[in-house]
Amino acid sequence: MLTNLSPSKLFEKSAMKSPAIELSDCVKCGICVELHPSVFKLTDAGYFEIADKPNYDEAKIEEVIKYCPGNCVYWEDDV
Ligand code: SF4
Repeated sequence: MLTNLSPSKLFEKSAMKSPAIELSDCVKCGICVELHPSVFKLTDAGYFEIADKPNYDEAKIEEVIKYCPGNCVYWEDDV
């Protein structure tokens, strides 16, 4: 497929990713919110979610991935 993006822009776009939570594995411990409340939050409905941001501090997400007891925080490719 043809595109108007330069090779560097194509690489930049393909490298974009966002954090996500597999809610079926979340044990609702709240560690993610304790570590980084600017990124993770508990909704009124009682589940955890990630704030919608244009980009994410990779170190913060990696820290939560490391300590999340449900192993349910992961990176997904942006589409
Ligand atoms: S740290 Fe992981 S298991 Fe705990 S509330 Fe956050 S997403 Fe759920």
